[in-house]
Amino acid sequence: MSLATVYRNIVLIKSLGEVLELGFPEWSNRYDGNNPANHPHVICIKCKKIVDPDLDILDEMKKEVVLETDFKILNHRLDFFGICSDCMAEKV
Ligand SMILES: [Zn+2]
Repeated sequence: MSLATVYRNIVLIKSLGEVLELGFPEWSNRYDGNNPANHPHVICIKCKKIVDPDLDILDEMKKEVVLETDFKILNHRLDFFGICSDCMAEKV
């Protein structure tokens, strides 16, 4: 691998990390501080309300990811975007 390729890859990985980390910067302060990445969020794209659903399937998903990829999973994030029932009712 040439040095140029190495540098390109580093830049790629770095920007990828930034994308993953920053996701949507203006909302990041809405995430609960303790453990922002370890449970799924459901985010209303209109009022930006964030709900944390209890998903039993998440553990199963993690096991399946490990089986599929042989990764040791350290962290994950799972966000759903949609429109909450309040905003749906408003029909602005
Ligand atoms: Zn809403």
